[in-house]
Amino acid sequence: MTEHTKTDGLPEVEPIPQVLEKARPRNERMAADKIECNACPVLCQIGEGRVGACDRYANSGGTLVRVDPVVMLRRTVEDAGAKLVRFAGRPALPAGLAEAAGADGDASGLDPAGAEAGVADWDGDLLRANEVFVTGIGSSTTYPDYKPAPFIVASQADGVDMVTVVTEGIFSYCSLKVKIDTDRYLGPEQANVRCRGEVVGHVTTAEYGSQMLSLGGVHHLTGGSKKEGRVTVEMMQALGNRQPVELTIDGGAQLLVQAGRPPVVNGVEEQRMRVGCGSATIGIFAKQFYGRVDEVVVVDDHITGVLTEHQAGRCLDMRPSGLRIRGRKSTPGRYFQVANPGTGWGGTDIADPLSIVEGWDPKLAWPGQRVLMVSTTGEHAAWYELDEALAPREAEMPEAVRRIVERIGENCEPSLTSVLFLGGAGGSLRAGVTENPVLLTRSIKQSLVNVTCGGAPAYVWPGGGITVMVDVMRMPENAFGTVPTPAIVAPIEFTMRADDFAALGGHVEEVRTLGQALRSGAWHDEGAPVARRWLAADPANPWPIGHAPMLG
Ligand code: SF4
Repeated sequence: MTEHTKTDGLPEVEPIPQVLEKARPRNERMAADKIECNACPVLCQIGEGRVGACDRYANSGGTLVRVDPVVMLRRTVEDAGAKLVRFAGRPALPAGLAEAAGADGDASGLDPAGAEAGVADWDGDLLRANEVFVTGIGSSTTYPDYKPAPFIVASQADGVDMVTVVTEGIFSYCSLKVKIDTDRYLGPEQANVRCRGEVVGHVTTAEYGSQMLSLGGVHHLTGGSKKEGRVTVEMMQALGNRQPVELTIDGGAQLLVQAGRPPVVNGVEEQRMRVGCGSATIGIFAKQFYGRVDEVVVVDDHITGVLTEHQAGRCLDMRPSGLRIRGRKSTPGRYFQVANPGTGWGGTDIADPLSIVEGWDPKLAWPGQRVLMVSTTGEHAAWYELDEALAPREAEMPEAVRRIVERIGENCEPSLTSVLFLGGAGGSLRAGVTENPVLLTRSIKQSLVNVTCGGAPAYVWPGGGITVMVDVMRMPENAFGTVPTPAIVAPIEFTMRADDFAALGGHVEEVRTLGQALRSGAWHDEGAPVARRWLAADPANPWPIGHAPMLG
């Protein structure tokens, strides 16, 4: 006989897991005044008033708090306005941590009136809401990965309901691509790049006028020794936060690099990025040289150009000079491998430009021939005249020629170091947005979701996953942190229409209005930031809301 229960005829009730904001301690013997941080897999046990291993979380009277304020961007920030404001109903930072968080002097972390001032500095006006953007910097994370992102903020852009999902991503799979504008030889392709003796990356392909490095990456973060991982993550954090880092390249140069600053190669600060290769320089300035000089050699580690033999000289119907250059002839007037790469003339290892000259063909050359030798940046230049024996004699450069050399220099852009952060936003990050993470990826690829990092536009690579690349100079300062796993912590925001957010299965129950987010912060209590900081948005960046992603 069948047994009947009270639920007969009713749909089966799915079990609802009990989700604790903080897990039960792993160790029952953990001191009573300690709490376990569950914001990353390290699970630090943090004593009252102390911070965890990454300095990002603290124990404030038994509550886990995010030490740094969450950074909010405004299109304009009035100097007189409150820059740092405590969220209502949040604990104060432990004494001593306030200064680290950026508060001025007050041990409580913030002016107690701050919360009031904070509400007053934004009155909920939707037009002004159009000017506010919550970034992932200081927002806290979604570890252990099923949690909705700490801020899911509803706002409006031009009358359209938008949602921005904001989190701090923990990136193990990430690297920096460093572009160093220089003619100097930095080292062979594939050579190891070291920081404090540890291998932290490698030299990759050279691009025009620049040498590229690939630094960091999962191989160095987790694939080597503990020290290698620690040095790699520290190097990445420093470069991402626009601080200087010393690097050495095996078999190559010593570097001092800093985002947005000229690179320093072997102790010498770079000034100019080449105008082009030797061949291009010949072509660009050929008409200006015409009539003022009989032959020009542009010395370059890539292609050394010889004017009268080059197509540019032939088009100008210049008389062949008879000059013979060492190196492998590529095409008329264009020579490869005239010297070894180095830090001398035109990125070669030569100090005397005549060392690449084999001589002059006596059948073609003539006494008194005027020859200019110059590098691709115009930093090196010499003027010669052939004597009766067709030997070059250095002489004073005519003023008109000097002006062209100066123009070569003037056309060189200033040398810079550019640091681009490249990270793969894995499934756990996407789970902060939706229970069905692949839908976020698809929505991004359909241009429905804009991806930004600290409000800066992130380029989304083609292919699978969400692999993003962002220029650290477009992000607010100190946007990067670390955890000792080791991994980089970086801000990431996904902005979309509210109905697209619902359609991709977004965590709609965690959506807060911008006003709520400004007043009381994140939706959760454990590990939430206690204050917000206003920064002015970089006017060079497109406003993240209501903007399509930069897709590859
Ligand atoms: S390293 Fe930082 S985020 Fe990770 S558990 Fe410790 S305090 Fe928390």
